[in-house]
Amino acid sequence: MAAADVKVNAEVRDLTRIERIGAHSHIRGLGLDDALEARAVSQGMVGQAKARKAAGVILQMIKEGKIAGRAMLLAGQPGTGKTAIAMGMAKALGEETPFAMMTGSEIFSLEMSKTEALTQAFRKAIGVRIKEETEIIEGEVVEIEIDRPEGGSAAKTGRLTLKTTEMETIYDLGQKMIESLTKEKVSAGDVITIDKASGPSTKFVQCPEGELQKRKEVVHVVTLHEIDVINSRTQGFLALFSGDTGEIRSEVREQIDAKVAEWREEGKAEIVPGVLFIDEVHMLDIECFSFLNRALENDMAPILVTATNRGITRIRGTNYRSPHGVPIDLLDRLLIISTEPYSEKEIRLILDIRCEEEDVEMTEDAKELLTKIGHETSLRYAIQLITAAAIVCQRRKGSEVDIEDISKVYSMFVDVKRSTQFLIEYQEQYMFNEVPAGDGEEMETS
Ligand code: ATP
Repeated sequence: MAAADVKVNAEVRDLTRIERIGAHSHIRGLGLDDALEARAVSQGMVGQAKARKAAGVILQMIKEGKIAGRAMLLAGQPGTGKTAIAMGMAKALGEETPFAMMTGSEIFSLEMSKTEALTQAFRKAIGVRIKEETEIIEGEVVEIEIDRPEGGSAAKTGRLTLKTTEMETIYDLGQKMIESLTKEKVSAGDVITIDKASGPSTKFVQCPEGELQKRKEVVHVVTLHEIDVINSRTQGFLALFSGDTGEIRSEVREQIDAKVAEWREEGKAEIVPGVLFIDEVHMLDIECFSFLNRALENDMAPILVTATNRGITRIRGTNYRSPHGVPIDLLDRLLIISTEPYSEKEIRLILDIRCEEEDVEMTEDAKELLTKIGHETSLRYAIQLITAAAIVCQRRKGSEVDIEDISKVYSMFVDVKRSTQFLIEYQEQYMFNEVPAGDGEEMETS
């Protein structure tokens, strides 16, 4: 019994050690240099240089806070790295900037209205940087803000950031500014506090070294959606973990927006517009598109990044056709970035990166064959064969995936082209095999 327990425990431990490797886990950024040029292979990214550079320019605009409510569309054939580029943008933005992601079709499967789902997605992509005051510990970085006295010049407004252990330096640097501000001398060991309540006058507080008590600001970034959920009495904050937030009442959102506006006015909070990524944007319908058009007008709007692999197709909810299935008025405000099919060499490099990511050893010949398969079928199909071939190799107790393993999985799992061919040959044996003609929808074979 005890031995069995030990075995079970060991198995559980082994299981928890298995890491899930996602389709884009190898992407660590956009792989650009300082001049925003795409490096050939960098941060898990290969090729697609023009699109990566364009995404980098947009990223720069986001970082500089230059654009709010802008939108871009990544358009290109399946498997040309549109989602990968969006992921690269998310990684490059860093922790503080919110990045929310959804697929167009999710709108129709959630237990909420389409506009509620889109509102939640937008609010997940809007951050609020909240400043809070805490005590300073010696050695920490302090920021001292000097308010401009009435009638004073702009030069007298300033912000000093230095370490508390370097108090003398603080005063060396700040001396001039403070002196001109107050006409008083400041000496080392003094702690400056600006008494906003008493107007323009600046107060100096004597404080023994090592016991710095000045209050400092710490900053948190939360999303508007998180604030909504926490304040929505029907849901409670646990819904943040389950994701089961349901609909949030509009009064709750109105109160929160009013509160955030108040904090912004008092200088306690700032808005951090993040990124909302909608994959398969052609799956949205006309009502959703008109919502997007309106939502982008809001001054707190995030950057909207959309992606599609569709050409000219019907706009859902209408009988009209349009490029990418997106209405012209929305298309007109999108910066469109197109992605191109990969060369064999690029496919090979991406497969190399994926083998490394999945910890799969593969012979040169096998990689060559897999590259050919990727070129003739699709990159995604070739990537999927890596794991399958590794399992077949393990079964035969091999140490490196070889040509025979690739051939085996190639015959075991058919790609779209072969599957379509099979259906064309044997369609009479399937149910509902007739493809109705003339209803405006085409069969997808891409
Ligand atoms: P779809 O239109 O079918 O959604 P997509 O254009 O979004 O396709 P991805 O899902 O981004 O294509 O790409 C397919 C796979 O190839 C993913 O695993 C992705 O991470 C990888 N990949 C695509 N392009 C690159 C690239 N330039 N560098 C590295 N990996 C890439």
